[in-house]
Amino acid sequence: MDYNAYFASELTRLKDEGNYRVFADLERHRGQYPAATWRGDGGERDVTIWCSNDYLGMGQHPVVIEAMHGALDSYGAGAGGTRNISGTTHAHVLLERELAGLHGKEDALLFTSGYVSNWAALGTLASKVPGMVVLSDALNHASMIEGIRHSRAKCVVWKHNDLSDLEAKLQALPVDAPKMIAFESVYSMDGDIAPIREICDLAERYGAMTYLDEVHAVGLYGPRGGGVAEREGLMDRLTVIEGTLGKAFGVVGGYIAASRELCDFVRSFASGFIFTTALPPAVAAGAAASIRHLKTSSAERERQQQVVAEVRARLDAIGIPHLPNPSHIIPVMVGDPVKCKFISDMLLRDYGIYIQPINYPTVPKGTERLRITPSPVHSPEDVNRLIGALSDLWRQCELARRPMAAQ
Ligand SMILES: *Cc1c(COP(=O)(O)O)cnc(C)c1O
Repeated sequence: MDYNAYFASELTRLKDEGNYRVFADLERHRGQYPAATWRGDGGERDVTIWCSNDYLGMGQHPVVIEAMHGALDSYGAGAGGTRNISGTTHAHVLLERELAGLHGKEDALLFTSGYVSNWAALGTLASKVPGMVVLSDALNHASMIEGIRHSRAKCVVWKHNDLSDLEAKLQALPVDAPKMIAFESVYSMDGDIAPIREICDLAERYGAMTYLDEVHAVGLYGPRGGGVAEREGLMDRLTVIEGTLGKAFGVVGGYIAASRELCDFVRSFASGFIFTTALPPAVAAGAAASIRHLKTSSAERERQQQVVAEVRARLDAIGIPHLPNPSHIIPVMVGDPVKCKFISDMLLRDYGIYIQPINYPTVPKGTERLRITPSPVHSPEDVNRLIGALSDLWRQCELARRPMAAQ
């Protein structure tokens, strides 16, 4: 077999379908984020990033940078081993304590990413609890789906955020079967939020565990950045809270927070935890500093919400359609894959604004969008330039506008 010819033909197919991914080569500038340098075919240009998951700009926060420098200088670069074999540094121990405290749980367990935490924790819980049935929200993230699939446990998919469908599916299962409801708080593409309280009610009624992915909420919601479950006073009702250190916390890594026994169980049986090198101690120290900072500082969250509201109001004022939702994510709906890509390309090339287009298969066909994530570090001038550029391009692409809001 000509392997390379096969790879090339599959890639050509992907390109023909419009699903081939092209990365933007960006260089962020500490102290000036969301500004960055983009390197494209035509050379370099200054751009403003409007689609980052570094939602609060913590990736450049002095407290985080200082903690990482300090740890790097004190402990060196890598952890040097798996957690079991010399890779557990004091920075890891402190970070797990910080995370357990953040979510009001007895313990927490670190992974090398949020993806790995979902894959390993769900995979382990679903495969090692005899007869476990997983009830998975239809829009769960790929990492959850892969973890559940890998476990080979029975999986029942319920309609997205649909309590009556979830209840019907719980009811149809044997009363004594172990069950786990797996879902997210903030769904990242539509920015909608799950009815966590009602899901916990159902879980209690039917004797199910709950597994909540708060990846797009930790750092951002709740008085200490504990997520939507903290904001709603529900953390103690969830069996497992999973999060990332790579989005609002601005570093990298993933974790679960749960009871001492559950964390110890996953620690002891999850291949994706056991057989991989621990995160660098500098990463752990930076993440802990970020969490600690956001536990007491609400300024970043408040400013973010203000910028989100401002961008929404300005879009409304010029009739550009965006999906209403109760979160910080603004999906600007284009509804056409070619135009979506075109607008994104023009924004970058002509306006120095970087927003990655989101097309099928990430979202359903016909709902192609620009996913905008305002942050506390976007200035009023950044907002003005974004709105001006979108207005120009909407005209150029002859896209429909909503009736103008009363001026
Ligand atoms: C990004 C994401 C993850 C994975 O987290 P990483 O730390 O980026 O690996 C998990 N769940 C959801 C819902 C996500 O959007």
